[in-house]
Amino acid sequence: MKTKRLAILGATGSIGVQTLDVVRAAPERFRVVGLSTHSRWPLLFEQARAFDAKRLVVTDSSLRREVAASDDPLADRVQWGDAGIAALVSDPEVDVVVAAMVGAAGLFGAIAALEAGKDLALANKETLVVGGPLVTALAKKNNASLLPIDSEHSAVFQCLQTGKRDEVAKVVLTASGGPFRNRPLKDFDDITVEEALDHPTWKMGPKITIDSATMMNKALEIVEACWLFDLKPDEIGVVIHPQSVVHSMVEFKDGSVVAQASPPDMRLPIQYALTYPQRTPGPARKIDWGKASTWEFFPPDFERFPALELGFKAARLGGTAGAALNAANEAAVAAFLVGELSFKDIVRLSRDALDHHPYDAKPTLERLLDVDRWARLEARSWISRMRGTSWRGAPSSSSSSAPSSSSTS
Ligand code: NAD
Ligand code: MG
Repeated sequence: MKTKRLAILGATGSIGVQTLDVVRAAPERFRVVGLSTHSRWPLLFEQARAFDAKRLVVTDSSLRREVAASDDPLADRVQWGDAGIAALVSDPEVDVVVAAMVGAAGLFGAIAALEAGKDLALANKETLVVGGPLVTALAKKNNASLLPIDSEHSAVFQCLQTGKRDEVAKVVLTASGGPFRNRPLKDFDDITVEEALDHPTWKMGPKITIDSATMMNKALEIVEACWLFDLKPDEIGVVIHPQSVVHSMVEFKDGSVVAQASPPDMRLPIQYALTYPQRTPGPARKIDWGKASTWEFFPPDFERFPALELGFKAARLGGTAGAALNAANEAAVAAFLVGELSFKDIVRLSRDALDHHPYDAKPTLERLLDVDRWARLEARSWISRMRGTSWRGAPSSSSSSAPSSSSTS
């Protein structure tokens, strides 16, 4: 296999660090050209030394003075903000860009990478949720591959290789059900940040961990799957699988179901995105077939996890719906993490933003970014209204909006 030369955006996060584990295990196959972080520059410098990365990017430009004051010789090599990301991803030495930033902030780097014609190994699902039609069209135009890292989508990608596209009946995404799968619904009002951050099977960054607890993560993944595999929302099913060993399945027209299974370890889907179409030994854990195990599957409870319905709705609406849902959820999760919002209000707020946003079926990038900004502002005023009324429960002005399939404002 030819050496793959990588740019890793969001190198200091959970996916970024695990990408470097994959590189460390096979130095003959990979070379790190550049790395980015938002604010954890001391870790970025450590990584740069360990992997001899020539380009370093810090996206939080307010840290310029702090980094300069460090007197670290690497400080002079740092490039800043979006300009730094654009320079890194378009470096002729880069073959593959790993998009491991969190949130809609990842959209810029993903688009810049595709504009430069680079293959994109995509962990940042928000990129497709917000900009699905633009991002997939850009990849096609520039003949760049979109390689999924998200474990469910990597699983679907692997399963799809066993049949033809027109033989697919259905894609079934698995979900662990998170920490609240069995918690009595009447106790959902008391959910604490600590409880929501305690995921039973995966160790991930805080935003996606909260998304897994609300199941907004699965909602975003429904939209992501539609764009990655050109699926209609009703070709997608969701099943709760608490063990997180079967990462997703494809059901073919004859009724045969092909599943991809491996222990919950992101290093496998990361590596597969980087070695595709080949498979190579790697650091990911393997299933111990000498041990008895049980794999369970349950239908999802839409009352317990109302976020799921929002994923199907955003996927059906398309256009600006993903951008509105994603930005409102990002703002709501941030507010929950600092104690400004209750757990149940994350989904209530997100639903209101989705239902009331200025919908556009065929948006430009500027329009998507406008809707992203609108939803974040709307989230702030939702939180202020709610805090002005009662701590638990949606504000009365916006709690009864009916689901609609077109613009409501
Ligand atoms: P994380 O919070 O651990 O790391 C996020 C990374 O993005 C960090 O390097 C951080 O410096 C950078 N970052 C944060 N804010 C930024 C901003 N405003 N601009 C630029 N960079 C910024 O997150 P994670 O768990 O590694 O998740 C990264 C992405 O991968 C998310 O989109 C998540 O949904 C997806 N994902 C993660 C996992 C997982 O197991 N962690 C699994 C599937 C998908
Ligand atoms: Mg996933």
